[in-house]
Amino acid sequence: MKVKCCVCDKVRRESGWEVPVAGEMADGNVSHGYCPECADTAFREIRALRYEREACAKLAANH
Ligand SMILES: [Zn+2]
Repeated sequence: MKVKCCVCDKVRRESGWEVPVAGEMADGNVSHGYCPECADTAFREIRALRYEREACAKLAANH
């Protein structure tokens, strides 16, 4: 089964994550995931969101 990044559409190969060639993903046997780059970005966004929430909670507690 192929794994395709749901953010940048790159596909995982033995050599690494690359842009798929035309028709390569047409067989439908594709699983969606994150390439390391996009996983890193997504992880950072999640952390930023959590940080914002914690900051809000602290502000609310001070009032
Ligand atoms: Zn990606």
